[in-house]
Amino acid sequence: MKLVLLGAPGAGKGTQAVFLKDKHGLAHISTGDILRQNIKDGTKLGLEAKKYMDAGQLVPDEVVMNMIKEKLASLPEGQGFMLDGFPRTVKQAEFLETITKLDAVVMFKVSDDDIVKRLMNRAVCRSCGAITTWEHDKCPSCGGELYRRADDNEDTIRSRLKVFHEQTEALIEFYRARKLLLEVDATGMPEEIFERVLSLLNHD
Ligand code: ADP
Ligand code: ZN
Repeated sequence: MKLVLLGAPGAGKGTQAVFLKDKHGLAHISTGDILRQNIKDGTKLGLEAKKYMDAGQLVPDEVVMNMIKEKLASLPEGQGFMLDGFPRTVKQAEFLETITKLDAVVMFKVSDDDIVKRLMNRAVCRSCGAITTWEHDKCPSCGGELYRRADDNEDTIRSRLKVFHEQTEALIEFYRARKLLLEVDATGMPEEIFERVLSLLNHD
């Protein structure tokens, strides 16, 4: 299975990707995670990407397109995957069509108000990468230290939402026209949302 997970920042794509990975053995390819790893490692790519990410802007298409091309080429033959955070522009989506054939695109629907609330309350575990909330003082899964992502502050969140509406939302029509779009209500508990995703994928 080759999937794209689509949705605004904070719609829960990463959380659902972890569930899907466990259930279906799909590789989870998150452009945001790859970029953050590059920043951490201090690579040239990371240095270049950081200024866009901190401002809540998109990293240039060419940069992420190359990244994805390499990543997909490195997967074993026949390995299913989920793309999380890619594509984010029509240009990226058109490029993706030239390198792979998708089975479905799952669109996670949440209101802007909910997104701001969720991202302001998002905590990430330094040890295992789990996503949780500031209701906890350490990671509920492993006891690790929690941190706030550099781009999870109100101004940057507003810019990311604006970018989503201006550049990424057009992908809903793009994939609907190709009969690949599956829309899921992404409000409620992560487990409930996962049930909805599974039933959509099964009836597809
Ligand atoms: P979120 O979905 O919560 O905003 P991500 O981790 O997916 O977070 O992405 C964080 C940042 O990384 C984005 O705001 C953007 O700057 C950059 N980025 C990730 N994926 C892409 C992409 N496909 N195209 C351009 N920039 C990207
Ligand atoms: Zn943890």
